Amino acid sequence: MRNPSEWVRCVECKHEYELPALGEEMGCPMCGGVSWVSTRIAAAPAPEPRYETQKT
Ligand SMILES: [Zn+2]
Repeated sequence: MRNPSEWVRCVECKHEYELPALGEEMGCPMCGGVSWVSTRIAAAPAPEPRYETQKT
């Protein structure tokens, strides 16, 4: 039984990375930021447009 990978998004640079195991050093590999949000939460009700609008 494996734990599914926990993916998080850095709040600083928006880089998504796999959350290291507990006890490991946490931080964004891109900017070193330690603040992140779960991509699961962010992916819940994504208000993505279903239709392409006119591109400017
Ligand atoms: Zn970052």
